[in-house]
Amino acid sequence: MTRNPTVHERVRQAMAQPDAEHDASGPMSCKAHGCPCTATLDLGGGWHCQWHAYCSPDQWQGLTQQLREHTWLLEFITDLQMRHRRGEGSKVLVALATTFWAVDPYMAPTAEERQHWGRYLWRLREELAYRVGRRSERPEPREPQCRDPKIWSPRVQPMAAEHSHVA
Ligand SMILES: [Zn+2]
Repeated sequence: MTRNPTVHERVRQAMAQPDAEHDASGPMSCKAHGCPCTATLDLGGGWHCQWHAYCSPDQWQGLTQQLREHTWLLEFITDLQMRHRRGEGSKVLVALATTFWAVDPYMAPTAEERQHWGRYLWRLREELAYRVGRRSERPEPREPQCRDPKIWSPRVQPMAAEHSHVA
């Protein structure tokens, strides 16, 4: 008897095979036909990406079309996530993001986001949600709830220290 993989196992598999992200027929792909995204959620109707999982099936096709038109942003988010998980330095990540958004400085990482990269990745995903019509208002950078670096996660601390001089 085979057991369904957990979300963490699926994400780990997807990270081990980054090309699976864009293989529409791959076992890791979203169940919505033609969706370019990795499946990360099963809310009872099969494995879907985070965008299709919360969307009613009659809107799937339109959403898939929107996501396919934003492959450039999907790929950028995936690339930044992988680089962050591999521990690439914040200077590299910030330079990449700033260059990527050269024509839209609103999307460049803020001083806060440079210290808390997860917050920036959250905003990128919400920006994608906004651009594909799954969110009505453009997301703003999040303010930190905790300002004490001593209790930040070990992965955040080096980035925060590197950018602590940023006003
Ligand atoms: Zn999908």
